[in-house]
Amino acid sequence: MKSVFMKSFCSLLIPALLTAPAFVSASDNKSPDAQPEWSYSGANGPSHWGDLSPEFNMCKQGKNQSPVDISNAIKAKLPAVKFDYAMLVPENIVNTGHSIQINIRSGGSIKIDDEKFILKQFHFHSPSENMIDHASYPLEAHFVHSNDKNELAVVSILYQPGGMDNLALIPLLRNMPMNKGDSNRLSAADTQLFERNKSVKNYFSFNGSLTTPPCTEGVRWIVMQSRPGLSRRQLLGFQKALKHPNSRPIQPLNARIVTK
Ligand SMILES: [Zn+2]
Repeated sequence: MKSVFMKSFCSLLIPALLTAPAFVSASDNKSPDAQPEWSYSGANGPSHWGDLSPEFNMCKQGKNQSPVDISNAIKAKLPAVKFDYAMLVPENIVNTGHSIQINIRSGGSIKIDDEKFILKQFHFHSPSENMIDHASYPLEAHFVHSNDKNELAVVSILYQPGGMDNLALIPLLRNMPMNKGDSNRLSAADTQLFERNKSVKNYFSFNGSLTTPPCTEGVRWIVMQSRPGLSRRQLLGFQKALKHPNSRPIQPLNARIVTK
């Protein structure tokens, strides 16, 4: 009896073990939320993103992709961007493996031409993704907002190297999740120095895309002309948590113009 049981048990178990990995990956591919693995180098790197999934098609077919090298911007009367981050309440700071991201619970918004966009999250790239006059910067923050039609407006801040600690970044570095999947809670005090309750007119404006798959277009980009500094120690803190550069290469402007 026993040997028959063992035999039938094993004959059931072994095929199950052999097929388990295939089953897991097939089910992952079928999951509606699953995205193919993408990265910043190698076979899944930026030049291959468009081939990793039909959903990532815009990464190779899009004509309005980000980031861009901003040069020869045309002077225009841009509307002021009115920041209201006074009541900003962050949720947490997460190491996604692709970036360091601060998720926002409530309280942050911008207004452009009386159109309101709500701050959803902000995250960091090192080195910068956008360039100005062919120059790269050591760190770039993307503040991702959406309006009630789910249209995106991303505010970019480029950080200059050298100098003192940037006070707004200190609480983030103190709570920095060091490994992929790690996250730490944040309180309102940890993001209060990002409050920018002011109107900003000095910025570069252009149409672009998400800089990560699926590279969706129709994103309104607002790149601040003023560039705060950060210390070398702070930069190393971000880079140590990111583990690798997380910048998509510059994309062609094609027919777009950049205004300022
Ligand atoms: Zn970004």
